[in-house]
Amino acid sequence: MRKYLIAGNWKMNSAPSGALDSGSTYQTHADVDVVVFPSFLDLPGCIDAKILCGPQHGHTEDHGAHTGDVSLKMCKDLGCLYALCGHSERRADHGETNEDVAAQCIAALELGLHPVVCVGETESERDAGKEKDIVKAQIAVLPLESEITIAYEPVWAIGTGKTASPEQAQEMHAFIRSLIPEDRRDVTRILYGGSMKPDNAEELLSQDDIDGGLIGGASLKPTDFGAIVEMATSLS
Ligand code: PEP
Repeated sequence: MRKYLIAGNWKMNSAPSGALDSGSTYQTHADVDVVVFPSFLDLPGCIDAKILCGPQHGHTEDHGAHTGDVSLKMCKDLGCLYALCGHSERRADHGETNEDVAAQCIAALELGLHPVVCVGETESERDAGKEKDIVKAQIAVLPLESEITIAYEPVWAIGTGKTASPEQAQEMHAFIRSLIPEDRRDVTRILYGGSMKPDNAEELLSQDDIDGGLIGGASLKPTDFGAIVEMATSLS
């Protein structure tokens, strides 16, 4: 019922070689939604290349005295359709709180951008058995009655090569789904993120409550990213 969404987070890296060429694997696919979150500098190139994309972060105010920032409105006006909100690297590097993330998510919705909101616990929080409490608090402030996508990204699995087991991921995804209001529960997509690669994509994407992936490292390798998109296509 839910179409897979495979999203690439290029972080602070340039577009991979060939990514903006016609026919690249980052462009729209028939059976799977493919989205890229490039740096601000590569947004225009992605839009010109007809790649669905959005910023990795955007200011909630439309314009003003916020040196170094780019607003969600500016991204919308450029032609973006999506916005990444609350990635754990933004939470850690820029002190974004759950409330800041919710404000970005709401601002994106108001502009007609589709928010992909990241949640997830750190390793020490999981070791202390608090992973569900942490994720519940991150989810509780979000406008779950609206059309948003949630990305469960255990912080200990991002860029580390450690992946949540399919069982660990499924358990958390089912928990997140249980927190979504009933009328949105079956339609809201919940992506998994954290060292998803071609060799673990099948078992992760096969889980009942995993509706796609948010992919960092492997999204910078067009062949790997393409293989994950193909896997999602074959599971559709
Ligand atoms: C991410 O940046 O959202 C991510 C999941 O990174 P990686 O795939 O490299 O773990």
